[in-house]
Amino acid sequence: MKKYFKLKSGDEMPKLGIGTWHMGENKKEEENELEVIKTAIRNGCTLIDTAEMYGEGRSETLIGKAIKEFDRKKLFLVSKVYPHNASKAKLFKSLEDSMNRLQVDYLDAYLLHWRGGVPLSETVEAMERAIDEGLIKNWGVSNFDVDDMEELSECENGSHCSINQVLYHLASRGVDYDLAPWLEKNRIALMAYCPLAQGKNLGFDLLNHRTLLNIAKKHGASSSQIALSFIMRFDNRVAIPKSSKKEHLLDNLRAESVELDQEDIALLNKDFSPPQRKKPLDIV
Ligand code: NDP
Repeated sequence: MKKYFKLKSGDEMPKLGIGTWHMGENKKEEENELEVIKTAIRNGCTLIDTAEMYGEGRSETLIGKAIKEFDRKKLFLVSKVYPHNASKAKLFKSLEDSMNRLQVDYLDAYLLHWRGGVPLSETVEAMERAIDEGLIKNWGVSNFDVDDMEELSECENGSHCSINQVLYHLASRGVDYDLAPWLEKNRIALMAYCPLAQGKNLGFDLLNHRTLLNIAKKHGASSSQIALSFIMRFDNRVAIPKSSKKEHLLDNLRAESVELDQEDIALLNKDFSPPQRKKPLDIV
């Protein structure tokens, strides 16, 4: 399995990172969460996903504290702008605030969190200007379906989009029907959020599914590693599991060394069948 995906800019984006939604929200958890993020980086995991929305900036502040002792150039930091801030007038203020909280002077990728009322062409113009000014290295979107991607690519420089972050896990494979092939064809990274189906929070206990447990046993792995490896076997797919527990984090990071074979994929396709028709994009 490849460990990096080359973005249109030439930057190498790690295919496994950490999510941080809900981290930084509870002061009592701060020490533990700082240690989890630092442990991730010490173990070679350099991609960190966040957003101005997460804890209204508190996730970014937490990350800023955690990364201080590391070489910034070795990190791949991704943040997201609220749709209502994705205008020419407001995007730069949001970006500056995010960078201040993260204590960095550029982001590796900046994404439009979901589609809102600001015209796409205006957001693209602002993102391109942020690239020209050296504030971000790459830009992308999140929660965009095929029709949104097509509309985006019709905007001037819209084809410079290099990432689409969408919900994707074994039990939610709608994007496999059309969006994932579209992104692959257009050399855009599919950044899979909720890659572990949020533990049990989405109403489905993916990690205790019999087939995952059986395949995990065969590989001497864990079911979370199987769920992540299933995503990361594609060159342009990136997984960003979130964990506030060190043992879960270390478990997830080992997914890079698990190679699923054709028999495993056939078993997974049987229990989690790929979509046979268009499905609306799943979101949380
Ligand atoms: P995930 O699918 O990553 O699941 C997180 C849950 O799984 C937590 O409850 C965690 O518990 C548990 N978990 C993690 N690792 C293990 C393990 N090895 N064994 C057992 N349980 C485990 O869900 P998220 O919603 O957090 O998605 C990941 C990231 O994607 C977010 O944190 C965020 O950065 C991004 N995201 C983006 C969205 C968007 O709209 N663009 C929307 C939602 C998420 P514990 O902490 O106890 O380990």
